[in-house]
Amino acid sequence: MTSPFTHDLTGKVAVVTGAGGVLCSFFAKELARAGAKVALLDLNVEAAQKYADEIVAAGGEAKGYKANVLELESLQEAHDAVVADFGVADILVNGAGGNSPKASTENEFHEIEGMEGVKSFFELDKSGIEFVFNLNYLGTLLPTQVFAKDMLGKEGANIINVSSMNAYTPLTKIPAYSGAKAAISNFTEWLAVYFSHVGIRVNAIAPGFLVSKQNQALLFNEDGTPTARTHKILSSTPMNRFGEPEELIGGLLFLADEKASSFVNGVVLPIDGGFHAYSGV
Ligand code: NAD
Repeated sequence: MTSPFTHDLTGKVAVVTGAGGVLCSFFAKELARAGAKVALLDLNVEAAQKYADEIVAAGGEAKGYKANVLELESLQEAHDAVVADFGVADILVNGAGGNSPKASTENEFHEIEGMEGVKSFFELDKSGIEFVFNLNYLGTLLPTQVFAKDMLGKEGANIINVSSMNAYTPLTKIPAYSGAKAAISNFTEWLAVYFSHVGIRVNAIAPGFLVSKQNQALLFNEDGTPTARTHKILSSTPMNRFGEPEELIGGLLFLADEKASSFVNGVVLPIDGGFHAYSGV
């Protein structure tokens, strides 16, 4: 995957959390292609290092670091290693996030009858809900505490959080993930205001529905025909198609590049084919 956009991030240091994952490894590669030195942070350091190696093989500068976005000590260790290797961060992408089946219902609507054997709202697991809120919300806030401290006053410094379509209007079945992403959008605005006197812009992207290896089976049957869920998604997306991960990159690099977005602050940018704007009528 490559994108056609050209932004010059030469000399910048970009830190990407969750960079061992599907989207954030791609973000890391594109930041590196734009010239940034990229620190790929992940709980799964082998995955982060594998993508860092691919960046280096393609001529970029990158390294994988083990970091748990929920533990300050682990983040501080990663921070110190990144500063020693590349210098102080200019760009922080808070990408680590996700959902848990323990925090999801099996049904879209509760009914008076016929609920036997269905995992409903009443069976949601407290630990699963805590896991999802912590991973997404605290997992954005804590890396910001650790990495933003020495970004204060640095020209062009900025933070990009990863929200989601479900932050605007919750998707069915995933109340914790929807609530946690809504909290990320809210935090993005709060932090943009808070850091507005110290030169750090704070924005977010809110990806819509993408096809990835992870959700391929949910969206398409084995014979390639769309599933019922796909029909539902596409009928709610005015552009009537899924997005591609490549289509997130223009927004990401635009927000990361001070020359392109120096007055853009506190924005949560939907990249969704119009899903958010469409009432369905
Ligand atoms: P992914 O599951 O492929 O990657 C997530 C990465 O985060 C993994 O490498 C995992 O090891 C890492 N991680 C998990 N817990 C961690 C922790 N405590 N500390 C450090 N790293 C940890 O996810 P993805 O699909 O690439 O999604 C990336 C981001 O984009 C997430 O915030 C997700 O919520 C958001 N998002 C994804 C989509 C989509 O369609 N994939 C849509 C909207 C938003």
